[in-house]
Amino acid sequence: MRGADDQSRPRDAAVAAAASETALPITIRRLSKAYGAVPVLNEIDLDVRPGEFLTLLGPSGSGKTTLLMAIAGFLRPDSGSIRFGEREVVRLAPHRREIGMVFQNYALFPHMDVARNVGFPLRLRRVPANEIARRVEAALEMFQLGGFGGRGIDQLSGGQRQRVALARAIVFEPRIILMDEPLSALDKQLRERMQIELRQLHERLGTTTVYVTHDQREALTMSDRIAILDKGRIARIDTPRAIYDEPGSRFVAEFIGESSFLDAEILDGECRAAGSIVRARHMPASAGPCTLALRPERLRLLGPGEGEEMNVFEARVTGAIYQGDTLLLQAVLGDGSPITLRQTTRSGEVAMPAIGAPVRIGIAIADTVLLAGDAEGAP
Ligand code: ADP
Ligand code: MG
Repeated sequence: MRGADDQSRPRDAAVAAAASETALPITIRRLSKAYGAVPVLNEIDLDVRPGEFLTLLGPSGSGKTTLLMAIAGFLRPDSGSIRFGEREVVRLAPHRREIGMVFQNYALFPHMDVARNVGFPLRLRRVPANEIARRVEAALEMFQLGGFGGRGIDQLSGGQRQRVALARAIVFEPRIILMDEPLSALDKQLRERMQIELRQLHERLGTTTVYVTHDQREALTMSDRIAILDKGRIARIDTPRAIYDEPGSRFVAEFIGESSFLDAEILDGECRAAGSIVRARHMPASAGPCTLALRPERLRLLGPGEGEEMNVFEARVTGAIYQGDTLLLQAVLGDGSPITLRQTTRSGEVAMPAIGAPVRIGIAIADTVLLAGDAEGAP
């Protein structure tokens, strides 16, 4: 199709507008599944908004795939409800749910060429042959696979196979797209490029999407919201920025980004950690032990006279590693707690401090996070 490129913007806008009208919310209530005595999904409540890109993020074994398979219909939960829009689907067969799916291992048909793979969902739906040809062509174009229709699957690179799987998932214009670690088999560079491509595709199509990954940076890059799973429960659901800035618990703070954790204590309305009085954006309500969580890029070395309206710690440098874009500094505070800082290496901004040198480290009050519970993670 010639001229598809220069027409693509207005058409995409129209497609996106249409999609946002037809995009379906997913409503999950008290969804449970156990294998033997072990609960894998534990009374999950989850609302996926129409047109949203929601990511399920969690450690291996936290139940991400199980939850996705329940939404797709390949797994029958023990109890609970899943609705697409108003419709209860929990007993509906997978092929009747009108879902586009992409798996980690692509699950392409090895004996079919690219075009037949992509056209498969349309043949299943008895779409007329000329219409299939047109839609397959358009889907291949969308994933930079124009001209690849006649190729065998074994003649494709990993990245191209992944694109074929994506084209097959969207070709029938599903109202929900589910993806389970679709990029994890790709090398880092290709993975990062595909993250941005998938995000842009989502912005054009506006299809409600549930995406599974165990890679926190991927989740931060792609998602409207992230649901963090911990042992079959949703530990937290929010926007990437809200979760990063206010993790709310040790588990979430550890899972998203890096932090140095310090023992702290609230007494008489004041928080003390490593011998300093610390102010945070949100102070825990109750007195007792709590934990200070400090992001390495939010900490900085202070020059003489700096540190007004900040939290300031006296420390000694124990390590300095030049990493090109950043300088990684390790230090210990007066009470022996280790702390990590990451400084940008813009010229003139960062001097390389000597090992053993005494330094002052500052962090803005708005960047200072206090978590309830002690630094061992006890609530
Ligand atoms: P994730 O995708 O987050 O890595 P899964 O949803 O695949 O996690 O698995 C969650 C838990 O359920 C794991 O402990 C896993 O061992 C268990 N599990 C998954 N499928 C089965 C099964 N068919 N039989 C028994 N246990 C299972
Ligand atoms: Mg999994």
